[in-house]
Amino acid sequence: MINSNIIILGCNSSLPTRNFHPTSQILYMRENYFLIDCGEGTQVQLIKAKIKINKIDNIFISHLHGDHYFGLIGILSTYQLLGRKKKLNIFSPKGLKNIINEHLKWSKSKITYPLKFIILSSKKSEKIYDKNNVNIYTIPLKHKIYTNGFLFKEKKKLKNLNIENVNKIKEIKISDYINIKKGKDYIKKNGTKIPNKYLTFKQQKPLSYAFCSDTSYYPKISKYLKNVDLLYHESTFLHKDNILAYKRGHSTSIEAAKIAKLSNVKKLLLGHFSCRFPNIKKFEKEAKKIFNNTIATKSLNNYNL
Ligand SMILES: [Zn+2]
Repeated sequence: MINSNIIILGCNSSLPTRNFHPTSQILYMRENYFLIDCGEGTQVQLIKAKIKINKIDNIFISHLHGDHYFGLIGILSTYQLLGRKKKLNIFSPKGLKNIINEHLKWSKSKITYPLKFIILSSKKSEKIYDKNNVNIYTIPLKHKIYTNGFLFKEKKKLKNLNIENVNKIKEIKISDYINIKKGKDYIKKNGTKIPNKYLTFKQQKPLSYAFCSDTSYYPKISKYLKNVDLLYHESTFLHKDNILAYKRGHSTSIEAAKIAKLSNVKKLLLGHFSCRFPNIKKFEKEAKKIFNNTIATKSLNNYNL
């Protein structure tokens, strides 16, 4: 894989069915494999998606409803069986560490690789990761229990030199390259400015991905989602069930589309579908009335940022 993209492992709500799986996805960004939520069966979905689980070093759990983390103990056990040595970070609300430790205690099992829980408790957005060319922030959501979405932002890359043009300016030294790669113009000794765009190639702008699950319609989050390249927003119900959605702390397809429009995102992915609606195209059709660039996700499909 070269470009950032999202691989959906599961996009159904709590009841699993033959073709649908609970929430889990892999974000591939700048050579990182981030696992986002880990519903039951995530390991098997990873195998089907041909993703080696040992590539994952960071797991993000949005909240502690079972359909978002029941697959975790399985993955942690598999790492143990495979003799994992690398550190694994788990970002999650308070309580998950106790749940995992309780499992381990009663099965007289041990985890011998370094396992670090980063406990999230703030009700405000915070930066939780700043490494490997990516920044990650929480997005506080409005659900039945404490829940975060996550915003992943690529850092700006250094520009590639147009070496043919650089060589034409004899006085440019290798030690000047770093500033040119950072986007600075070159000022010659006689004061002439050589514009950066002459010395470098045009660069793709850093991409961003936002994951929002589970949440009621919550327009306040749009300030975190402004102009993101790809937004995944839950859409548990069709809009005819908007009152039920509100009562259960979920959103409808129309509400997800309203958030996408309000936030001026480029593309919207819908997911977390209730199994009462087997035809997921209905979600897409409904959302497109408000926000045209919408896709109802399917398990094991990839979507580019
Ligand atoms: Zn939930």
